[in-house]
Amino acid sequence: MILFDHQFKQALPIIDKIEEAGFKAYFVGGSVRDTLLNKPINDVDIATSAKPNEIKGIFPKTIDVGIEHGTVMVLWKDASYEITTFRTESTYQDFRRPDTVEFVRSLKEDLKRRDFTINALAMNRDGEIIDYFNGQKDLENKLIKAVGIPEERFFEDALRMMRGVRFVSQLNFNMDSETEAAIQKNHPLLKKIAIERIQVEFVKLLLGSGRKQGLGLFIRTNLFYYCPGLKGSKKELEAFAKLECVIENRIVAWTLLIHHLKKTSDDVEPFLRAWKCSKKEINQVKLAMIALEHRLKDDFNRQVLYQVGLQIALDVETVMDCLGYPINFESVQMMYQELPIYSKHDLEVDGDDLQVVLNRKPGKWLGNLITEIETTILSGELANEKSVIVEWISNHYTKDA
Ligand code: ATP
Ligand code: MG
Repeated sequence: MILFDHQFKQALPIIDKIEEAGFKAYFVGGSVRDTLLNKPINDVDIATSAKPNEIKGIFPKTIDVGIEHGTVMVLWKDASYEITTFRTESTYQDFRRPDTVEFVRSLKEDLKRRDFTINALAMNRDGEIIDYFNGQKDLENKLIKAVGIPEERFFEDALRMMRGVRFVSQLNFNMDSETEAAIQKNHPLLKKIAIERIQVEFVKLLLGSGRKQGLGLFIRTNLFYYCPGLKGSKKELEAFAKLECVIENRIVAWTLLIHHLKKTSDDVEPFLRAWKCSKKEINQVKLAMIALEHRLKDDFNRQVLYQVGLQIALDVETVMDCLGYPINFESVQMMYQELPIYSKHDLEVDGDDLQVVLNRKPGKWLGNLITEIETTILSGELANEKSVIVEWISNHYTKDA
């Protein structure tokens, strides 16, 4: 019997209502696994024998989030819950998603189609665990093991191979040898899977506390062959896998990886574009690589801190720490606090002022001049005061019409 987490308690009325209507309902998946591991849970997933329309008949507020797969979102007291009808997934033909989903009334059938034994656990409203595939034993033994015959499971959905190495890293587990052998044998199936989905798992792998193990497995099984930009880089990946530090965020993760792949800030964009990262993330990692390239040669200076911003500078200090260099977060923070300006908007003059002072029409010169003013203010040679800047410009530039 388990002490119910607050999130489970909040969701109990949902289970009760479904059962009052004559159906079965259980907590399933990651939340049950994480509770048994005494870890904080993410979201509570519920599986039920009720069909989607039956669920919609029970609850006043629902959203169809994936009704063809049997998932309905129920809105209940400021929270939302994904409720999925027990289902089997039959005849996979493209190694990535079931051709058809068949709703069933049996919990066991539903749990059978799940990826790993530790994810195939269910819990009823009284906290009793339903465990058809020895998931609890594997949790105790810290083992990632496919439900049923591993090879079949990876044929059904090749993403499961990446999920497996991700769980090894995230939970600090080992992989069952038969499951590992099946991944090794079938790693080329990964090319069927959308990069976006591989990326989600890969980043979770990098951020996991068992990254060393997870990456080791990722390399050993050759899964890296089918990940963007990694195929020819086994040696570099092995060196990366030796790092001991825990990686705390995505920017640090990508920066460390890119550095180990011996790529430069100019390679960031094509590399992360191939990984389907967002524009924002690509820009951040690019700045981090620029900062790292500088930092490997010298301490931070005001210009670089101004260019990359405090958060990225601190991320790069973390990267340096991971690489075994001495670092000093406080001095970076202090240097940043002492910057005279943080962006163009902080300048006491704007483009209009400059046009008036120099009596010139706007053009490329304007951007260049603003950059020069920023640089000169940052270097301490010019005060950020309108009259001082105007005088400086008048001395350095001639007016022309
Ligand atoms: P996380 O803590 O990262 O959310 P999770 O195990 O909850 O991990 P989800 O992707 O949220 O992962 O999936 C919820 C559950 O659905 C899993 O625990 C597993 O039972 C099942 N599942 C998810 N993806 C797959 C898959 N590709 N193949 C089989 N079962 C899956
Ligand atoms: Mg989950």
